[in-house]
Amino acid sequence: MNIDKILPFAKSLLIKAVKPGDVVIDATVGNGYDTVFLAELVGESGQVFGFDIQNEAIVASKARLKQKSLSERATIFHSGHEYLFKLIPTNYHGKIFGAIFNLGYLPGSDKAIVTRPETTIAAIQQLLEIMAPEGIIVLVIYHGHKGGAEERDSLLAYCQQMDQKTAHVLQYQFINQQNHPAFIIAIEKI
Ligand code: SAM
Repeated sequence: MNIDKILPFAKSLLIKAVKPGDVVIDATVGNGYDTVFLAELVGESGQVFGFDIQNEAIVASKARLKQKSLSERATIFHSGHEYLFKLIPTNYHGKIFGAIFNLGYLPGSDKAIVTRPETTIAAIQQLLEIMAPEGIIVLVIYHGHKGGAEERDSLLAYCQQMDQKTAHVLQYQFINQQNHPAFIIAIEKI
């Protein structure tokens, strides 16, 4: 298949936007796969700030970073991403070039603990204030679970009304796949 699948496409957007030494955000660390990817992308002089509300995710992501000897490059907050503005030290504000939200529930865990539209949107609004111009926010939207359709619809409505003078907003989606395939919304700050 020549067209990028959803996760490779999400990564390719971040690879374009982020350079060694940059500051980036993993808004939903979960098992830490994206955190490790971002820590590798920013290199030794970069920094990843990660967020998750579940202790299980904090433990798993820290263990994964440690196993890859990447712990120094990441600060993981046991907190909702809706508090990112106040948790990320102000000296990093304006220097953030990439962020990923992998929405939905933690695979292999409690499916009732899911990301929610109000908090996801609050985090996006805060991020747009503290990102650098040309920084990219990637939302990977899963919508087959309970609450997923509501989050999808709220995010689409919120993103579609963004002023085109402040952000470029892209939707990347396979439109002939069965069973609620995940899709991407990417927001590039202008
Ligand atoms: N990126 C992860 C990985 O590589 O394994 C998968 C993330 S999983 C699909 C979604 C995660 O979002 C869950 O671990 C869940 O606990 C977390 N989450 C839910 N609400 C959150 C919030 N308000 N702030 C931060 N994380 C949240």
